[in-house]
Amino acid sequence: MSLLSIVAPCFNEEESVEIFLEEIQKTLKDYNFEVIYVNDGSRDNTLKNIKYLASKNSNVRYISFSRNFGKESAIYAGLTYASGDFVCLMDVDLQHPPKLLPEMMESVLNEGYDVAAARRVSRKGEPRIKSFFSHLFYKVFNRISEIDLVEGATDYRIMTRQVVDSVLDLPEYNRFSKGLFQWVGFDTKWIDYENVERAAGESTWSFWGLVKYSGEGVVAFTTLPLTISMILGTIFSVLAFGYLIFIVIRYLLYSDPVQGYPTIMCSLLLLGGIQLLSIGALGKYLEKTYFEAKNRPIFIVKESNIDGE
Ligand code: UDP
Ligand code: MG
Repeated sequence: MSLLSIVAPCFNEEESVEIFLEEIQKTLKDYNFEVIYVNDGSRDNTLKNIKYLASKNSNVRYISFSRNFGKESAIYAGLTYASGDFVCLMDVDLQHPPKLLPEMMESVLNEGYDVAAARRVSRKGEPRIKSFFSHLFYKVFNRISEIDLVEGATDYRIMTRQVVDSVLDLPEYNRFSKGLFQWVGFDTKWIDYENVERAAGESTWSFWGLVKYSGEGVVAFTTLPLTISMILGTIFSVLAFGYLIFIVIRYLLYSDPVQGYPTIMCSLLLLGGIQLLSIGALGKYLEKTYFEAKNRPIFIVKESNIDGE
């Protein structure tokens, strides 16, 4: 029977880890599975609780980081350590309903899909403004980037070994998994579900955190901002050159005295602004290149009960 590895990133989830395992065990009675908890530098008793679960259950494994590296790193680590024929990514706070698992397994086992992924269709219990900006982000992102993100798509998904290996072949340091999953391609079945509130604890995402995350996504999958600054630069250079010729001719024909303080101020400020913006955009890409060039590891494992790797 093929093995399903369930990868669950945990950051300060002491209350959730056990409920999570119970739910999974209930749902996957008839399957051969292992749970890989990735403790992402939690500051509470998450690791202790995970170790307890591992001592009671032979199919519970864990990796514990030396500090908090972020969910993206935890996902990468989990995929690296997972040995299953199928790998499932799941939040440990039960916001990814385990009851979808059998249907997802069915899709990859018998329906010929490479990926079965969950799509959240309602955003119940979320501030209106957050939904609005999220919608806007997807619209803009899909317009300007090389890949199309599916709105409401989550990290909750089951992938075949082939897909997992393809994702692992992208060892970039700046990881925007939503985009990477889309980038590798393969046949994906989308399974819809209603938003679920967290089982315990609280979300680590702030509004600004999400705005920053969206920015990361844009920088990771399109260089359009650079193109825009080039286009703006070209337009303004042409305009300025035309204006220069106009002034020279006007002076020669009418010998007008110098005037136009407001024009100078406006163009100065406008161009200064655009220049700073362009340098900023350039800097963003340079920053990413800089971190990629350092070639630092994506995560550091302090302890684990999985050998190898
Ligand atoms: N998480 C993580 N590292 C972090 C932040 C979050 O591993 O630095 C995990 C967290 O424990 C949870 C999942 O990622 O299992 C999703 O986090 P959260 O519930 O805070 O995000 P939301 O559901 O609000 O998008
Ligand atoms: Mg959550």
